[in-house]
Amino acid sequence: MNKYIILEIDMSFGDKSDKIYPVVLWDETNCVLVDCGYVGSLPKIEEALLYNQILPETVTHIIITHQDHDHVGAAAAYKNKYPNVKILASEEEAPYISGARRSLRLDQAEELKKVLPENMQEFGKAFCKLLRSVEQVPVDQLLCGEELLPFCGGCQVISTPGHTPGHISLYLSEFNVILSGDAMALENGTPVIANPQFTLDMEKAKASMERLLAHPADKIICYHGGILE
Ligand SMILES: [Zn+2]
Repeated sequence: MNKYIILEIDMSFGDKSDKIYPVVLWDETNCVLVDCGYVGSLPKIEEALLYNQILPETVTHIIITHQDHDHVGAAAAYKNKYPNVKILASEEEAPYISGARRSLRLDQAEELKKVLPENMQEFGKAFCKLLRSVEQVPVDQLLCGEELLPFCGGCQVISTPGHTPGHISLYLSEFNVILSGDAMALENGTPVIANPQFTLDMEKAKASMERLLAHPADKIICYHGGILE
């Protein structure tokens, strides 16, 4: 039986507490984790998997929607502990995830830090330090364009650039559900652009969010914010 399971992981940065929602796609042969938490969150991911009766060692694939620290953060640790897992990412994001290219977010954060007011400097410094601590992980399978993956009854890749250049979302046709990644977030139940101050291409990000909202899916699961019915 195919099913998808939403994990709930506590995420705090500084004094800001928050939750993230990775999703597991489960079918007879595959167990696919979509996005892999932040740096140091492997124990929490393992705990959330076990809570849902999934043994961490049975995860076959991890799909990473984009290069950001809160999506790729625990992927290297996961792969180190469970080396059979395959890492998947879009062709465009893969070099930033594997370390072949320097994180665009770190470039951006270092530039922003230069113009931050004095009272924000500590935050800027801590954020850059956090981004530098992200462990790189080789990508085993490149996702090209909008391919259809054989997971969970059919998992369609949707290109949703803007937040980062190669950002992807996923559509589960059997459930009529979209996993937005950071192409869309929810704030008090309202769809918003995730972290607009860090969005790399605002025009593209707006178009990507519009595209998801125009899709006839029943639900959109946002990594930040949860479910939009
Ligand atoms: Zn995120």
